[in-house]
Amino acid sequence: MALVSAESTNPSSFNGSDSSGGNKINRYESQKRRDWNTFCQYLRNHRPVPISASMCNGTHVLEFLHYLDQFGKTKVHNPTCPFFGMPNPPSPCACPLRQAWGSLDALIGRLRAAYDQEIHGGSNPFGDGAVRFYLRDVRDFQSKARGVSYHKKRKRPNRNITTTSQSSS
Ligand SMILES: [Zn+2]
Repeated sequence: MALVSAESTNPSSFNGSDSSGGNKINRYESQKRRDWNTFCQYLRNHRPVPISASMCNGTHVLEFLHYLDQFGKTKVHNPTCPFFGMPNPPSPCACPLRQAWGSLDALIGRLRAAYDQEIHGGSNPFGDGAVRFYLRDVRDFQSKARGVSYHKKRKRPNRNITTTSQSSS
């Protein structure tokens, strides 16, 4: 995680909640600027070759989102975990921490706006269909894995149905 450690460009900072009051517009603008800088830094460090922001596409955006997962703070249970689908597991488990869907969705919204400001012409990679599909997948999977459903919870937690729901590429 050497890429953007320390200082204010820490990519996990977009998880921060707005508790300090202040001007909401300015906070949004400064957050958008930080997010954009983080993304550009990511592109500059891209291997094997650096990428300029005007050259990036939806694939790079998806790579960036995957990269951010290492800074995530949201426990997302694997389908094989006994706590899959349980909102409040009784004990810790080894499942990974991820970026919460809501954070990613808000981030993409800010970056999409920043891209339109910074890059003139070309199609906006943050509006790419692949990115939208990915976000939808993340939302659906996290709602299952964390036991957070848009519907009211079912009577019986069904623990063994989960092996078919894996949707990784
Ligand atoms: Zn787990």
